Amino acid sequence: MSSSRTIIKAPAASEPTRTSRPEIVETVAEVIADVRAHGDAAVRRWSQTFDQWSPPSFRMGPDEIAAVVSSVPETVLDDLRFAQQQVRGFAQAQRDSLTDFEVETLPGVFLGQRNIPVGASGAYVPGGRYPLTASAHMTVLTAKVAGVERVAATTPPDRGAPPPVSIAAMHLAGADEIYVMGGVQAVAALALGTETIDSVDLFAGPGNAYVAEAKRQLFGEVGIDLFAGPTEVVIVADHTADPFVVATDLLSQAEHGPDSPVVLITTSEDVATRTIAWVEKLLPDLPTGEVAGRAWRDCGEVIVVPTLTTAYDLADRYASEHVQILTAEPREALHRMRNYGALFLGDKTCVAYGDKVIGTNHVLPTLGAARYTGGLWVGKYLKTVTYQEIRDAGSSARLGEICGRASRIENFEGHARSADVRAARYGSASLGW
Ligand code: NAD
Repeated sequence: MSSSRTIIKAPAASEPTRTSRPEIVETVAEVIADVRAHGDAAVRRWSQTFDQWSPPSFRMGPDEIAAVVSSVPETVLDDLRFAQQQVRGFAQAQRDSLTDFEVETLPGVFLGQRNIPVGASGAYVPGGRYPLTASAHMTVLTAKVAGVERVAATTPPDRGAPPPVSIAAMHLAGADEIYVMGGVQAVAALALGTETIDSVDLFAGPGNAYVAEAKRQLFGEVGIDLFAGPTEVVIVADHTADPFVVATDLLSQAEHGPDSPVVLITTSEDVATRTIAWVEKLLPDLPTGEVAGRAWRDCGEVIVVPTLTTAYDLADRYASEHVQILTAEPREALHRMRNYGALFLGDKTCVAYGDKVIGTNHVLPTLGAARYTGGLWVGKYLKTVTYQEIRDAGSSARLGEICGRASRIENFEGHARSADVRAARYGSASLGW
């Protein structure tokens, strides 16, 4: 990376790599192979092993769902409805931006494009460390707005029981099936199918390193949204940033897990040193300080750079899931940056808003995947397909002559004859074979 930077705080752990750790790869492969070979029995075995969870059925029935939802306080349900309204509104705007079209490229030659939703999707709502309720809005609602007919949602148990608020969020979002299963066994069950669980066409949702690796290994047999592993944040700040806010926002992402990188890139040495002091001051008082402290110690970085241009360049090289801009002209980043999952402009918004309530999707690329993809959105559930029709005989004949020659250059005689037939039938050419 650029040498025009001063590292004020380096991570204690080794540089995060863009691949999973070997022991995770191995565990995930073992669980997937077992689910593939033994279906439901394997799901139950691994659920028992990793989550101490072996209910009569992993799928919740309608009465059980109703009972769990009715146990959730009305104010909480209202907040869920508010968040889902925001997510639905933005997802609907995304859907509306995707139009099917047909164009006449030659006389009587019509080429078209359609966006067709997948038939069934899996929705992962994490729940190992915290019940990540908001992921239900992101994975279930977005699929429904895209027009997916069957959405099967799953979440791990919370201390031996279905997590009520996540179940309520899945239900309110319109999940067609709700399972209480976590981790690799849940991904494998829905991706591959078992005796009692139908497979899905696309599996989406965030998760820890095991969930992300399971999606990677199953990709191909099932579609996936993206690699959405442990959360990351990069904050780009200039001298106008408030170090207390910077520290608070860094810790808000550090609490996701001890492997969550939290990075400050700033043009101000004063902001850098005061942010570090604030983090140390705030950590003891944070109920999740144990996890956040480990993330800060092992994966936290503070870097001072000479200019905002260098800051944007460096942030682009991190290609972080979240990039927060705390500068005098935050919108400048819109035109200067290329690699991020979601951008948070100015100090009136924050990553927590994006995570929970504002309406943009919080399932976002990690481990550098922001170099080649954005986050989860309606379009991930849609297959953009094409079709063609020729209504004009002359155009068919003309294409047939050109296609015949093009095919023979590649030694594709079968293709050439398919073209010749049309050139002869619809034009003046005769079959040359
Ligand atoms: P999780 O639901 O992803 O994982 C919990 C499951 O992991 C458990 O049910 C268990 O079956 C499995 N597991 C735990 N330890 C295991 C082991 N040693 N071997 C095999 N399986 C094991 O919940 P979580 O752990 O709280 O992680 C949620 C993650 O989601 C966090 O890392 C968070 O940063 C991330 N996240 C990412 C995004 C994104 O868009 N990238 C968004 C939100 C959250």
